[in-house]
Amino acid sequence: TEAYVKAVEAARPLNAFITETPEIALRQAKAADERYAAGKALPLDGMPLGIKDLFCTEGVLTTAASHILDGFHPPYESTVTSNLFRDGAVMLGKLNLDEFAMGSANITSHYGPVLNPWTGKDPANAPRKLVPGGSSGGSAASVSGRFAIAATGTDTGGSIRQPASFVGIVGLKPTYGRCSRWGIVAFASSLDQAGPMTRTVKDAALMLQSMAGFDPKDSTSVDMPVPDFAAALTGDIRGLRVGIPREYRVDGMPAEVERVWQQGIEWLKAAGAVPVEISLPHTKYALPTYYIVAPAECSSNLARYDGVRFGLRVEGKDLKDMYENTRAAGFGKEVRRRILIGTYVLSAGYYDAYYLKAQKVRARIAEDFTKAYEQCDVILTPTAPSTAFAIGEKQDDPIAMYLNDVFTVPASLAGLPGISVPAGLANDGLPLGLQLLGRPFDEETLLRVAGVLE
Ligand code: GLN
Repeated sequence: TEAYVKAVEAARPLNAFITETPEIALRQAKAADERYAAGKALPLDGMPLGIKDLFCTEGVLTTAASHILDGFHPPYESTVTSNLFRDGAVMLGKLNLDEFAMGSANITSHYGPVLNPWTGKDPANAPRKLVPGGSSGGSAASVSGRFAIAATGTDTGGSIRQPASFVGIVGLKPTYGRCSRWGIVAFASSLDQAGPMTRTVKDAALMLQSMAGFDPKDSTSVDMPVPDFAAALTGDIRGLRVGIPREYRVDGMPAEVERVWQQGIEWLKAAGAVPVEISLPHTKYALPTYYIVAPAECSSNLARYDGVRFGLRVEGKDLKDMYENTRAAGFGKEVRRRILIGTYVLSAGYYDAYYLKAQKVRARIAEDFTKAYEQCDVILTPTAPSTAFAIGEKQDDPIAMYLNDVFTVPASLAGLPGISVPAGLANDGLPLGLQLLGRPFDEETLLRVAGVLE
């Protein structure tokens, strides 16, 4: 832990942490040492983790990377982090992210962008500064840059998987309902899910083991036994049917992404799996559907930040004025855009045309997967349509930014588990990930296949 605390300091130019908590880390590490000496070590004892600053941590500043949560010290601990600490994990600090987890490049944070460690040796002075992906950009950078052993992330439409691909690490989004959302700052409640970001598939299994489980405080967490995930890593995928969805060969996909995908198919074949071509016909509607459903839920979830109960307050001449001043000052541009879109699609005249329609399409997308899983056991796709881009690119074009989520969003809408595994380097020398999608609550098969790919 001492070495990691030093590594966190040395990595400050990457801007991955919003808050460093070395005293907490050293105290937790000491307790772990004592347990170890007493022969009572816990499963994650002494493991120095970074915690995405979307998880409420008791008494420790929690910002969601938003100005509006200035000075918010939650009086409670999120279920996921409390599970990790129960098992002995150590907290190095709170990691930077896109504001309220809205973004794909970690450039919407009130605390400034995070740099991808692949930018180079002197990242702060590099001419072309690479993004780490988003929204879990701090999590991705800390694990890739070796200044956290693992990190927590959250994934609403790809925020664990896409940054994992951009920095060359493993990122697992569990099935919706596998991990409790209690104490995680809400973005889009029907999509949000916590998951691990790690160097190896085995680490992802061990982290998920601790994070997962039923929680009566989250009515959407599912009361199911948590299997022994690490035991699923047998390396044996003989006869397993791997679905290759035709619709994911999107127009304009760079040849090297296609090449890495083909390579992944060959690797799995060599291990005895059987590729099968499948169809997910509603794929092209997934992005527009997501960018209606997620903003709708965000506009409703973010209504609570009114200057009364949490964080920032900007006084005004009366109560309404105070609300308006607080929200105008507290939310960044992307968050405001989403609140406006969400409010629009939920408004009386447009609800049927947009929100209701999107809900119906969402059901079709989920059905596509149910049908596909009659023919295959897992699905293999690229994680993202590109490698990490530079800060400044796509920044003024929200649509180009949203297109980055093309491969991750469908499974989110269907609530399915997905994992991104590093699959090598593209021609530009940057990492690219492959995504595996599984049946609901079948993270074991995902992990097993991912273990063969890594
Ligand atoms: N990039 C997507 C968005 O901006 C996904 C974000 C996430 O998964 N939190 O909404």
